[in-house]
Amino acid sequence: MKIIFLGAPGAGKGTQADIIADRLGIPTISTGAIIREALKNGTEMGLKAKKFIEAGELVPDDVVIGIIKERLAKSDCQNGFILDGFPRTVPQAEALDSMGVALDKVVSIEVPDEKIVERMSGRRVCAKCGASYHIAFNPSKDGKTCDKCSEELTVRKDDAPEVVLSRLEVYHSTTEPLKDYYSLKGILKLVDGVGSVDEISCRTLSALEV
Ligand code: AMP
Repeated sequence: MKIIFLGAPGAGKGTQADIIADRLGIPTISTGAIIREALKNGTEMGLKAKKFIEAGELVPDDVVIGIIKERLAKSDCQNGFILDGFPRTVPQAEALDSMGVALDKVVSIEVPDEKIVERMSGRRVCAKCGASYHIAFNPSKDGKTCDKCSEELTVRKDDAPEVVLSRLEVYHSTTEPLKDYYSLKGILKLVDGVGSVDEISCRTLSALEV
């Protein structure tokens, strides 16, 4: 299956994408994670993206479209994939169409802004493997280190409250119009993203009809 997960930053896209991808045996492709890895490694693309990501702005379309083209060409994508955080603009969605990607479903995880701000303040991530936790809703086993690789958990720079507000603004003005884009194609499913991680996974699986 070829699936897109849409949703505001902090809506739980990454958490759900990982759970559903495991269940379906397909990879999750997160442009945010690829960019953060490039930033950590100091690559040219990472340096180009740095000022945008730290300000909570979108990285230019040509950069992310390049990342996705390269990633989708890898052999593990042949049986399907979940895109987490791409597309985020109409030109990115059009670029995906022009690559000939035939999407099965687009899931939008719906969470009100007030909840997002509350959630982002408790998010903790593993800088090594990218796993994401929440101090109250989805803590790691010891609350401090990553369950998968034992690395110490940190707060993402772009989860600072002022950056979260600007990321939400960008989401509503630039990314949310994609709901109309995919609704017109008849493949959009809205999922209520308020509840426990398990509840939302169940809703997502039923929206995907798998
Ligand atoms: P995420 O981990 O999906 O929340 O992404 C973190 C940041 O990476 C975003 O705030 C953007 O600066 C950048 N980013 C990730 N995906 C995209 C995309 N599809 N288009 C533009 N910028 C992106």
